[in-house]
Amino acid sequence: MRERGEPVVNMGIGEPRNKTPLSAILSSAARLTGGDVKYTPPEGTPSLKKAIIRYTEENYDRVVAPENVIVSAGAKQSLFNILYSLLNPQDEVIILAPHWVSYPEIVKMVYGIPVIVTPEDGKFVPRMQEIEQAVSTYTKAMILNSPNNPSGAVFPPELIAEIVDFCEQKKIYLIMDDIYQKLVFDGKKAAPAYQFTNKDIEDTMVIVVNGVAKLYGMTGFRIGWAIANRSLVEVMTNVQSQVTSCTSSVLQAAAEGALTGMQNVVENLRLTFENNRNVIFQELQTFNGIKTIKPDGTFYILPDFRAYSNNSVELAKFLLKKALVVTVPGKEFGMEGYIRLSFAGTIKDITTAVERIKWALDPNAPNEIYIGDRKLVRDWL
Ligand code: PMP
Repeated sequence: MRERGEPVVNMGIGEPRNKTPLSAILSSAARLTGGDVKYTPPEGTPSLKKAIIRYTEENYDRVVAPENVIVSAGAKQSLFNILYSLLNPQDEVIILAPHWVSYPEIVKMVYGIPVIVTPEDGKFVPRMQEIEQAVSTYTKAMILNSPNNPSGAVFPPELIAEIVDFCEQKKIYLIMDDIYQKLVFDGKKAAPAYQFTNKDIEDTMVIVVNGVAKLYGMTGFRIGWAIANRSLVEVMTNVQSQVTSCTSSVLQAAAEGALTGMQNVVENLRLTFENNRNVIFQELQTFNGIKTIKPDGTFYILPDFRAYSNNSVELAKFLLKKALVVTVPGKEFGMEGYIRLSFAGTIKDITTAVERIKWALDPNAPNEIYIGDRKLVRDWL
């Protein structure tokens, strides 16, 4: 639609819009200009792994060995490698809704069964009892994503502690998708799962996934990693070495540059998103009928649009057609009736998008609007 010149506002996209950190550009450029672009070990270059080990020590208070780290083409490939390595056909994986779209898809791709736990209506955080009820003898793993895509919820430390305890006892792998770990607002912090286990890295059921995509806005570099016990990392390395050999040495150099360079870029992103969160939350308050829980992190907000439609796919299509706003239907995240809006764009994107959505849906909103240079009149309410 953009190519046709339509003034579309994209509230669907899941990535920061910053420029790549200079330290990442310089280190990858140095690798390129040196002309030394070759295969790396399948599990990643020793120097990038060293930077990841340092990051893990600083942010998780855990000292891990190089054999506990594997670098992949994004957190997504890390998750795939973990699930591919762990699951037998028919094994079950507990996924807490609202959940990132890829979790159930990856589980199904490796012949596992996703078991979705949905929180009580109007909440984004599950209750321990609901999680326990979902466990069966086939449960192999659970995926936990806090700060959460799509809700922006940050799980309370008490709940994470309970889940860690439960998984350690039941021998269920707890896959912590920590990709939004640093994007938390109002002075809060996302509690790392490691904090709640005194088990050694070789014995704990906790597996950590992270990456540079959201941390530094380096989505296109496709570098993520997993921290796990040695034998799982070994299997994942075998898998990866037969699938892609390794991730690109240029992109690994970029990730290393970002991890070892100035870290103020992370705080700048966080501050931008906190400000954007405040604006979008404020704007949505003036919207009749929709219910919004204030996100504590990420750059997503997941308002409840059931006052307008119970079919989020149709609603998202309608918003694109009438209001030229791209959104993501909640159905994809296991939350039918909700719509995910990304506030990773500009303040102008946010205010324009909310104004247009209001115009399209809310009978109390003015029925005329300018979209681009066209004046449109709402004639469907
Ligand atoms: N986990 C979650 C929850 C995500 O939202 C995303 C990206 N949208 C990823 C993982 C994938 O990250 P990467 O780009 O590093 O593969």
